[in-house]
Amino acid sequence: PERILQLNDVGVHFPTRDGLVKAVNGVSYHVNRGEVLGIVGESGSGKSVTARSIMRLLPKNAVDAGGSVQFRKRDGQEIVLSEQERLGKTMRSLRGGDIGMVFQEPMTALSPVHTIGTQIMRTVMLHQKVSKAQARQRAIELLTKVQMPRPNEIVDNYPHHLSGGMRQRAMIALALACDPCLLIADEPTTALDVTTEAQILELLKSLQQEMDMAIVFITHNFGVVADIADRIAVMYLGRVVETGTVDEIFYEPKHPYTQALLGSIPRLGKSHGKRLRTISGMVPDPYNVPSGCSFHPRCERAVAGVCNVRIPDVVHYASGQIARCHFPGTDLPDPDRMEAAQ
Ligand code: SF4
Ligand code: MG
Repeated sequence: PERILQLNDVGVHFPTRDGLVKAVNGVSYHVNRGEVLGIVGESGSGKSVTARSIMRLLPKNAVDAGGSVQFRKRDGQEIVLSEQERLGKTMRSLRGGDIGMVFQEPMTALSPVHTIGTQIMRTVMLHQKVSKAQARQRAIELLTKVQMPRPNEIVDNYPHHLSGGMRQRAMIALALACDPCLLIADEPTTALDVTTEAQILELLKSLQQEMDMAIVFITHNFGVVADIADRIAVMYLGRVVETGTVDEIFYEPKHPYTQALLGSIPRLGKSHGKRLRTISGMVPDPYNVPSGCSFHPRCERAVAGVCNVRIPDVVHYASGQIARCHFPGTDLPDPDRMEAAQ
């Protein structure tokens, strides 16, 4: 499969009064053309910061801690988003063009002082040579595409006239304005009631297929990710700890963190709407990342002298599944490997 997005060893740090927060610490993942990659993790795992770093939508105090992002546009052109480019012109042309973004809170993307139509028209006219009348026509088409009720009327409404679910649809229409090949969706359904959430997920799934668009779908909800994703990356304290297909992650998780998260989740199909299980041990604290494997204080399989000392390398499986653990797998830690690791 053709990779349209590749993150290599991306790091984002925040200097604070209480020390350096390594919010994202050497994250690598990729997205294939037309697929949905789910990013799952508790809050503070760095999943949003990683996604925002792709688009350089980071707070001012964020420090780029290295790595690279490669992106392949719909026309096949490959762009390496170095720090400079991510800050400059390339980024402005990609944002709202080849890459669309939707958030949990629609008002972070929608302006309260302009009509929905005006906002979509602006984005269309920024990226395409069209007349005002054509852009308005395009806005109505997009509102129709996201199954907005009464698109001819809504186009002249302000965001505060709309319900939460309709605002979410308006934001999706705006993100789709220039036919992106990648949509970054950061908890887009988290603030919605369960019925509206299901409708928006259905909409995103059908748009993804219809438009041959890849989606990076960020959520803390395993049920949602099971519903929409093809592959999943699990994050913990600024690192990707496991990636695999949906089936691999749900039926053959190799990393103890993934296994703990799935411990009390009802199986696929019945899991919709369930939140991640609270797992025992301290809540992860980005200010105080444990030594060695940062999951070791909560890990039932941690081996003293190994896990609390050394950061585990990535283990690759033949299927493509990846786990970052000294003792991955479904069996108890193997004594031979324990000795080798020491
Ligand atoms: Fe647990 Fe050790 Fe694996 Fe970390 S490296 S997840 S502590 S077994
Ligand atoms: Mg977040």
